[in-house]
Amino acid sequence: METRHTEALQAIVGAENLYTDAAHLRAYSYDATRTHYRPEAVIFPRDEDDVRRILTYCNAHKIVITARGAGSGFTGGALPKNGGIILAIEKHMNRILNVDMENMLATVQPGVVNKDLQRHVEALGLFYPPDPASEEYSTLGGNVSENAGGMRAAKYGLTKDYVMALRAVRANGDVIRAGKHTIKDVAGYNIAGILIASEGTLAVITEITLKLIPKPKFTQSYMGIFPSVEDAMNAVFKSLAGGANPVAMEFLDNLVVHAVKEKIGIELPEDAGALLIGDVDGNVPEEVTFQLKILEESFRANSAQEFRIAEDAAERDRLWVARRNASPSVTLYGTKKLNEDISVPRSKLPEALTEIYKIGDKYDLKVPCFGHAGDGNIHVNVMLDGSDPVQLENGHKAIREIFQLVVELGGTLSGEHGIGLSKAAFMDIAFTPAELQLFREIKQAFDPNNILNPGKMGLPD
Ligand SMILES: Cc1cc2nc3c(=O)[nH]c(=O)nc-3n(C[C@H](O)[C@H](O)[C@H](O)COP(=O)(O)OP(=O)(O)OC[C@H]3O[C@@H](n4cnc5c(N)ncnc54)[C@H](O)[C@@H]3O)c2cc1C
Repeated sequence: METRHTEALQAIVGAENLYTDAAHLRAYSYDATRTHYRPEAVIFPRDEDDVRRILTYCNAHKIVITARGAGSGFTGGALPKNGGIILAIEKHMNRILNVDMENMLATVQPGVVNKDLQRHVEALGLFYPPDPASEEYSTLGGNVSENAGGMRAAKYGLTKDYVMALRAVRANGDVIRAGKHTIKDVAGYNIAGILIASEGTLAVITEITLKLIPKPKFTQSYMGIFPSVEDAMNAVFKSLAGGANPVAMEFLDNLVVHAVKEKIGIELPEDAGALLIGDVDGNVPEEVTFQLKILEESFRANSAQEFRIAEDAAERDRLWVARRNASPSVTLYGTKKLNEDISVPRSKLPEALTEIYKIGDKYDLKVPCFGHAGDGNIHVNVMLDGSDPVQLENGHKAIREIFQLVVELGGTLSGEHGIGLSKAAFMDIAFTPAELQLFREIKQAFDPNNILNPGKMGLPD
């Protein structure tokens, strides 16, 4: 980056908040995809006004900017693919500004870590449900920009279901207020809705107001062991139609069960075809008991070999061990994992899984699957030997076929991890040319000079 630019930006944020040294450039060059793109500078804005002034300057000089929270994204959203500046939000803009108990709202800066907000509001008897597995480090700005989900999505929904209002800065430096602190608001376009999941391509989010709900008082965990994936899925449908409303309904197929047994050594039947693990909650114990009864009946009606209920926290932890270790354990089947988070209408899960396994067989690759059966979002892991170019090529072919299948079944390329760079090449499967053109026009309206995170979500570099 030219010295005149670094000097001008240092004049905005102070020399202590702009870095161009090798260590900083390296530290901010990657995310959870483990791919590296080196930025030319890293800037730590102190507040919204800094963001406004930085964007105004960069827009005038056509300097590319990528906003970054914790860099835990799985699809390369925070990678500075086209160089330029990393706008690192988490260092200074990380305060919980207000908890409004009467309206049950929390207003936060975007760099607040998800779990910090959860802990803060739970101490007040309130609850912020979205719980991505990265909750201990991912930021709420990143969560909004990816519309993060989590284990509790089956009952409580995704980040979007809690976003009431946003403040954001457009590429030209204009500050936008989107949404309201009211339950009802039908005035104007839903700009907050457009910014959610926009992966930093439209504006930099500078403040977030989130809905909170009362914290349920009782939670219990359950596990069902089934002879087949189909039985497990039918048990899901029957439980939900029967009136159960589980917080989580997590699924592991037999390949994952086997991998967890091998890697972690936990006790599970060798012939387990599939597992369902989850939580139910409520405000009185009877509500929890009622739900567990529906689950047990539905599971047994669908050939469950076993139905376990955790009586205490220690047992609860033991039941969840298999699910928590699902992702690392599947490395039993290969050194490289092509990991996608497809989502289909829940009713299509049995068909989707059957066809996904067939695609794996066609390419002679193991495809262990696990994930959120309660909401139709499954983590599909195409496992291969990373040093074998043929397997690598076949793996990528398999992924494309899986995406085609998912879209044909009415599903989507990503349930929670977003598009970023990793799935940009598949956008043509999911969207028509007219829809892709509309995306480009929306981008153009927000960011005509294409300085905000270009080249993501299939948008131009
Ligand atoms: C082990 C692990 C488990 C995970 N589990 C889940 C899970 O269960 N569910 C789930 O949904 N995801 C999960 N993720 C993915 C990831 O944590 C989420 O996508 C998360 O929301 C990213 O937050 P972040 O702060 O790390 O954002 P980053 O990775 O830094 O950025 C993500 C995107 O948001 C943009 N962005 C960040 N801040 C702003 C801002 N203030 N304004 C505008 N744009 C911004 C970036 O430009 C980028 O495009 C997991 C990741 C890991 C590593």
